[in-house]
Amino acid sequence: MTAPDFEALRADIPALHQEVHGRPLAYLDNAASSHLPQAVLDAVVRYHSREHSNVHRGVHTLSQVATERYEGARRRVQRFLGASRPEEIVFTRGTTEGINLVAQAWGRANLGAGDEIVLSELEHHSNIVPWQLIAQERGAVIRVIPLNDAGELDLAAFRGLLGPRTRVVAVAHVSNALGTINPVAEIVAAAKGVGALTVIDGAQAVPHLRVDVAALGCDFYAFSAHKLYAPPGVGVLYGRYAVLEGMPPWQGGGDMIEVVSFEGSTWAKPPSRFEAGTPSIAAAVGLGAAVEYLEGVGLEAIAAREDALLAYATEAVSAVPGVRIIGTAASKASVLSFVMEGVHPHDIGTILDSEGVAVRAGHHCAQPVMRRFKVPATARASLAFYNNEADIDALVRGLHTVAGIFGL
Ligand code: PMP
Repeated sequence: MTAPDFEALRADIPALHQEVHGRPLAYLDNAASSHLPQAVLDAVVRYHSREHSNVHRGVHTLSQVATERYEGARRRVQRFLGASRPEEIVFTRGTTEGINLVAQAWGRANLGAGDEIVLSELEHHSNIVPWQLIAQERGAVIRVIPLNDAGELDLAAFRGLLGPRTRVVAVAHVSNALGTINPVAEIVAAAKGVGALTVIDGAQAVPHLRVDVAALGCDFYAFSAHKLYAPPGVGVLYGRYAVLEGMPPWQGGGDMIEVVSFEGSTWAKPPSRFEAGTPSIAAAVGLGAAVEYLEGVGLEAIAAREDALLAYATEAVSAVPGVRIIGTAASKASVLSFVMEGVHPHDIGTILDSEGVAVRAGHHCAQPVMRRFKVPATARASLAFYNNEADIDALVRGLHTVAGIFGL
C-alpha cells in the first residue's frame, strides 16, 4: 500500500485553516482534544438534520434509523478495538466516566478491606481519583508503580507489588504528560497471574497506535471520542463480556432495566445495563465516522507519520536554549513535554499563542508526574497525523522568541 499524502489530508480538517492572532494556526494540543475531519462533521450534521430521534424505543422509522446509526457506531468501534462482540462496547461520556463505571460497579461488588489496587505514578487524575473514592468506601489500599528518570514504569517494582491481595491493576496505555507507551500486554499478563482485574486507560493510545484488546488481554479499556477526531460527549468502555455480565449497574434509569416494579427491578444485559438514559447519539455517530476515516487513512501509516514528526520535534525543540525535555522513554507517542529554565510554562503557552501556536501548559491532570520530575508544570506539544513540519517550525520559532525574552 502506498503511504497516504498527509499534506493533502490537511484539507479534510476545516479547523486547521484559520489564523490566530494574525498567524496561521499551528495546532499542537491534540492530546487535550483533536479536530474533526469534514467526513465526521458531515455525519453529525446528517444525523441531526435528517435522522435524529431517540434510540431503542420507537417503532417509527426515524427511531429505527437513529438506533441503526448508534448501533452501527458500536459495531464499528468493536471492530476497531478487536473486541469479540458489540455487546462488549459500552458507550460512556468519556474515559473519565468509563473508569468511574468500573470503579463503582465492579469495585463496590468486589473490593473489601485490605484489598489492593495497583496504579502507576504516571496516571491521569481520572485513573487515580475514581480508585481513591472506592478504596475509601471499601477500605481498600492503593499501591503505586514508580517511574524511572526517563518516565518509564519500573516493571521490577511492579512485579514486587503484585500479590494475593492485588485485586485491580489500572494503568494508562500512553501517558498524556510524558508520552511514554507502557508495555500493557506484559503488565496485563503479570496482573492476570495473580488474578487481578485489568483496566487500561487508552485515552492517549487509540489516536496513535493500533489497539487490539484481544491481544492485550485486558478486562477493560477506556477512551474518549474527542481525542479521536470525533465530538466530545461520548467515550467507550470496552469490557470483557463475562466480566460485564457479572457486574451490577452503577446508574439507574431508562434503557438499563428488564422489568421494573416497586418491589424491585431486574437489569438488562450488557451493554444496555450500563447505558442508563438517552445517550449522546450524534456524538456516537460522529465517533463511528471518525473510526471509518482513520481506518481509511491507515492506523499504521498514522503511527509512522507521528513518530517521524515526534523525532523531528524532539530534535528541534531540544536545541532551543534553556529547554529540558520531560519524558524521554525509549517508547513514546506523540507527546513532547518540556520546561524552559526560569520560565513558567504558562508564559511559554501565552507567548506561543500570540504567534498562533497552540500548546498546553500546566500539570496535565497528572500532578504525581510533576512531583516526580520536581516541576510545577510543563509545556506540552502533542501531535496528530494532520500536523506537519511547518507546525513544528512555528513552535520552534516561538520558543526562540521565549528564550530571547527571558535572556536564555
Ligand atoms: N486519561 C488520559 C491519559 C487522558 O489524557 C485524559 C484526557 N486528558 C483522560 C484520561 C480523561 O479524558 P476525558 O476528560 O475525556 O474523560
